[in-house]
Amino acid sequence: MKCYTVKVECQCSQVEGELKNISPQSGNHIKCMCIDCQTFAHFLEKNEALLDRNGATELFQISPSQITFTKGVENIKALRLSSKGPFRWYTKCCQTPIANTIGLDKDFAGVFVEFMKFEEDHFSKQDALGEIKYYCMAKYSKGEPPAGATQGFPRSLFFKVALKLLLGKLTKNYLPNPFFNEENGLPVNECEVLEKEKRQLLRKRC
Ligand SMILES: [Zn+2]
Ligand SMILES: [Zn+2]
Repeated sequence: MKCYTVKVECQCSQVEGELKNISPQSGNHIKCMCIDCQTFAHFLEKNEALLDRNGATELFQISPSQITFTKGVENIKALRLSSKGPFRWYTKCCQTPIANTIGLDKDFAGVFVEFMKFEEDHFSKQDALGEIKYYCMAKYSKGEPPAGATQGFPRSLFFKVALKLLLGKLTKNYLPNPFFNEENGLPVNECEVLEKEKRQLLRKRC
């Protein structure tokens, strides 16, 4: 299996890094139409660039240990839409979305394809990520969802993620985790929990 190193970079180039061992088999290439992903895009004021016509965000789910920041890690910040929600990382220099994570010992990072840079002369996005395999949470779709989309998260994807979380716990495959301190499990930088009123205002825009 051929694997690629995919460059990641924020819009203003203050934050850079790379994703290692990427191939279509190494992760789940999905589009998520859920209300929280849409809310996050509106929070960043990147809804035009980030959301497709169905209101879907394109993500590639891998292990946090496949992600390395080479520059500007001090510019990353997390947002939680509620006190129990996932940590949605983005850059505070230019509001570029990075990845959705769950916690230190959770072997999960849904990386925003928007954050990736493909130099087509070496390899294409298609080579590294393959086709989109799942169109999820179509109950929040704007208009007619794409063919094959599921109302919620498809069971096969749910089991893949659950198995990876379980195996990750045993093997500590989530380490090194660039988003959380290994000693105390806290986020490496600022983390904001969105106030309920603000969340409701953003949701109205979705
Ligand atoms: Zn930036
Ligand atoms: Zn979502």
